[in-house]
Amino acid sequence: GASIELESLSKEYPGNPTPAVDNVNMEIKAGEVVILVGPSGCGKSTTLKMINRLIEPTGGRIRIGGEDVTDIDPVKLRRKVGYAIQSAGLFPHMTVAQNIALVPKMIGWSKTRIASRIEELLDLVGLDAGEFRGRYPRQLSGGQQQRVGVARALAADPPVLLMDEPFGAVDPITRDHLQDELIRLQHELHKTIVFVTHDFDEAIKLGDRIAVLREQSHIAQFDTPEAILTN
Ligand code: ADP
Ligand code: ADP
Repeated sequence: GASIELESLSKEYPGNPTPAVDNVNMEIKAGEVVILVGPSGCGKSTTLKMINRLIEPTGGRIRIGGEDVTDIDPVKLRRKVGYAIQSAGLFPHMTVAQNIALVPKMIGWSKTRIASRIEELLDLVGLDAGEFRGRYPRQLSGGQQQRVGVARALAADPPVLLMDEPFGAVDPITRDHLQDELIRLQHELHKTIVFVTHDFDEAIKLGDRIAVLREQSHIAQFDTPEAILTN
């Protein structure tokens, strides 16, 4: 993993009277799993999307592994930052393999390298490559789609993984299973993970530290699950 520093990070959407994210300062250590929890609309998704530059900040800086990435080419950023979202966000007209290949293709990997990476990734997330590679998203269960979503986020082996309610759309039993899988994966991969959820139990289970956010992503508490549970 790589460290992440947010310095006075802000986002004002045009037309909105108050900023969605206001002056957030946060330091995340390399290899740490940090959970952002907070009410709907408090700016969690906006914060994540600024870290991968799907949204441009209106103020502040972002550093990954010490490098200021606030203004770098977003395509370059995709080598550093993987992104997984609720309902997996797979492109329906593309096969599992094509979905996973998106970022590696974008950054210029060769076909053979991509093909072997797809095998490796499907294996990593517990899907049989021979069986699933050629399937379309609609031919997968919700849980299988989430696995593919995680595989896609990991495709170019980025040091940072951003996850926006990745297990929000699956049933509780599958969610529990996917959470266990993520813990197992993290033991192996040591990514720096920023994980958004509004499920406090999920936060406690997965987080090394939890950032409890109020409106505009103001940080009310940023501490270990143990410390948060005893406060
Ligand atoms: P959360 O992920 O915590 O639910 P969001 O980051 O989605 O919060 O939203 C934060 C605030 O920004 C909300 O008030 C939301 O309405 C507003 N917002 C989000 N996206 C946009 C957008 N594209 N344009 C204008 N306002 C937005
Ligand atoms: P484009 O910029 O080519 O229009 P998108 O922004 O729609 O592409 O993203 C293409 C795919 O890459 C999507 O599946 C998206 O979830 C994924 N993605 C977006 N940002 C990142 C990132 N920083 N790292 C890894 N994958 C990303």
